[in-house]
Amino acid sequence: MKIFFVVLFLILDWSQPTIDKNYLLGRFDPSTDSRFIQLNSTDAQGSALNGFLRKETYEAFQKMAKAAKKDGVNLVIISATRNFDLQKKIWENKWRGKTKVEGKNLTTISDLKERARLILLYSSMPGTSRHHWGTDIDLNSLDNNYFSKGGGLKIYQWLLVHAHEYGFCQPYTAKLNGRTGYEEEKWHWSYLPLSKIFLTEYQKQISYSDIKGFEGSEQASALKIISGYVDGVACR
Ligand SMILES: [Zn+2]
Repeated sequence: MKIFFVVLFLILDWSQPTIDKNYLLGRFDPSTDSRFIQLNSTDAQGSALNGFLRKETYEAFQKMAKAAKKDGVNLVIISATRNFDLQKKIWENKWRGKTKVEGKNLTTISDLKERARLILLYSSMPGTSRHHWGTDIDLNSLDNNYFSKGGGLKIYQWLLVHAHEYGFCQPYTAKLNGRTGYEEEKWHWSYLPLSKIFLTEYQKQISYSDIKGFEGSEQASALKIISGYVDGVACR
């Protein structure tokens, strides 16, 4: 009898997805992880072309996109999973001035905390992005203005009404009601049935000593990256 329960426990335990630190920090390769699936070219463009998402996220997206299409709204994924290495490239290009931030070369800013804060207006530190998890997508345009008129506005209004029916929510809303962290991102949507689990695990498992391995990482604690940014979401 005892052996039966031990075996049962092991089976149940194995059936749980592993959510270890490396997963939460994006330190894995989604292209070789069986929980991920590659996006097809009808759903994805730009940097998301040949990209990956968790299977659950992609299935929910495809249902949502199909429903949107019936209402004349075309949803396109332009960024999907970005692991630690990719986020490190994006971050360090801004840190080193290779990519300008609002027209500025940030190497001219010698206050390193301020330099990091400027990057954080729109980009996450490696190890702290929801894009690591395979649950979050950027849709159609990385410009809030696009969603304020014409076809973009129609897309955004459709998402506001219907995205939740498919499990998606907008974590980075306008910073009313005291939300902290990133600026508003009308393009960024999160598959909550999974991302809420990962956010809870992140809060449990990750501390500032885990945020390392890139230039400027020593600013993470002073800028309250975990409590202010990772946790600065409108839906959880
Ligand atoms: Zn995003």
